[in-house]
Amino acid sequence: MVKILDGKVVRDKIAEELTKKIERFIKAPLARRPRLVIIQVGSLPESNTYIRQKILFGKKIGAVVNLQNFKQKIDERSLINQISRFNSQKNIDGIIVQQPIPQHLDKNKIVDSIEPAKDVDGQTSINFKKLIENDPTGFVPATTKGVLILLKHYKIPIAQKHVVVVGRSSLVGKPTALSMLNKDATVTVCHSKTQDLEKITKLADILVVAAGKPKLITKNHVSKNQVVIDIGINVVGEPINTDLVGNRLDKRLENEPPGHKLIGDVDFKEVSKIVAAISPVPGGVGPMTVASLFQNLLEAYKE
Ligand code: NAD
Repeated sequence: MVKILDGKVVRDKIAEELTKKIERFIKAPLARRPRLVIIQVGSLPESNTYIRQKILFGKKIGAVVNLQNFKQKIDERSLINQISRFNSQKNIDGIIVQQPIPQHLDKNKIVDSIEPAKDVDGQTSINFKKLIENDPTGFVPATTKGVLILLKHYKIPIAQKHVVVVGRSSLVGKPTALSMLNKDATVTVCHSKTQDLEKITKLADILVVAAGKPKLITKNHVSKNQVVIDIGINVVGEPINTDLVGNRLDKRLENEPPGHKLIGDVDFKEVSKIVAAISPVPGGVGPMTVASLFQNLLEAYKE
């Protein structure tokens, strides 16, 4: 019987832990609640959904989440000035720039203007360098951290295992591969130009997929005893309804809002019949990403 790696269960456990920690922290005289600033440029429906998940989680654990929305056509200098302002505000612990941002803005320049100590999604080049060097003082990107915690929760060892990562983006694939390497796995990274993907993925002990290609991984790509982590989130069907709010959204996000469906990069139905364990979409890595972002926020707050 395949084991389902349920990210919602682990997220809820993390939420409880973080709630208790925040309650403890704010008992101290003059203490304030941890604060995250989310910078959004424009108003992409997918981004709105991810942002609301963060706002809801923050609210649940007693953190403050401020959404700072900027016009689609904001220029680079103005945006960087705004970020510098947030960097210098002592009551702000974490800053994230919701991706994607419009093409006229240099993504690396914008992200690198975040103070590394407030870069709770581990996207700045300083935190990336720390990840390369296995320096624990840096922030690990939330999705990667979420994957590591999900594996840890289900007592799936990483050291000495062969981990195959499909996808080499700076946001997900590369940091996940590096983290696995830091945890003593033997790592193979595959990408869109990889030949014989099936042959390589079949050799994995742990297969991590972050390609953004619905059902890329089929029964032909996997073998028995594997652990499969599906990071992909693909929206199929009608666009997400951006008017959803509050608890209604919370419930509906987990059950897939009507009119659209979220699917992963792995053909869950086929693959789950073969492998030993698999994370579903939705309900696998997605909830873990949000929880890990706030774990990082609490670290930044403590500092
Ligand atoms: P990206 O488009 O930047 O990168 C995709 C990577 O997949 C590239 O490196 C590309 O070479 C590789 N790829 C594409 N087609 C391939 C193929 N046919 N065979 C092998 N490799 C292929 O995307 P990203 O930002 O890394 O995101 C990947 C997926 O993860 C997306 O579906 C995204 O929505 C999802 N995501 C999920 C979370 C989460 O919290 N679960 C967080 C971030 C991203």
